[in-house]
Amino acid sequence: MTDGRVEKLNEIAAQVRACTLCDLHKTRKQAVPGAGDGHAEILFIGEGPGEQEDRQGLPFVGRSGVYLEKKLASIGLTRDQVFIANVVKCRPPDNRDPLPLEMATCKSYLDHQIEVLDPLVIVTLGRFSMARYFPTGKITQIHGQPRFEDRRAYIPLFHPAAILRNPPLEPQMQADFNRILEVLEQARARRLASAMPPTSASSPPSQDTPPDQDAPPIQLTLF
Ligand code: SF4
Repeated sequence: MTDGRVEKLNEIAAQVRACTLCDLHKTRKQAVPGAGDGHAEILFIGEGPGEQEDRQGLPFVGRSGVYLEKKLASIGLTRDQVFIANVVKCRPPDNRDPLPLEMATCKSYLDHQIEVLDPLVIVTLGRFSMARYFPTGKITQIHGQPRFEDRRAYIPLFHPAAILRNPPLEPQMQADFNRILEVLEQARARRLASAMPPTSASSPPSQDTPPDQDAPPIQLTLF
């Protein structure tokens, strides 16, 4: 596909690698712009690079990455079919939490990536990326529950590192992953419907009409 998305994402990546806008550039080995399919329908957003990511310049390549790949495989996906990015593109020293100023300074890069990718589904991994879209939500209460808004769906998930630290959460994580493809189908249908010309106001809703956006999340079935 030659719509320029890959080129634009490469431009953003080059800007990130050269970025010195916040102090994290002083301690990084490599910036980690993000990686994956430039036409991916699903974008995963983590928090920030860890030690392995900092070394390799790629997102989710440490233990959390291995876990994430297993979860993707469990629903028939590979990391090359999605796009993976982080809230901050450079590793916070000693894996500390990213500071508010660092996240605010780095925000425009992720915003630009989202604008270019225009994904149908954004999956947040952990509390910092969740806070972008669910600022008042508690992950233990809202994980796996999609919210449809604007042009896409947002799904908050636990961070893989949280599951590795707390294995009893694994069944919940798997259940949340099992919903992703069905949410993707719903997001596709909504975007398609929103692109269609409006029908007569008196027309009854068809079976293809997407559910009300304010409706509570529907019960999803496993594939
Ligand atoms: Fe630039 Fe973001 Fe890295 Fe800070 S974290 S130096 S804003 S790319």
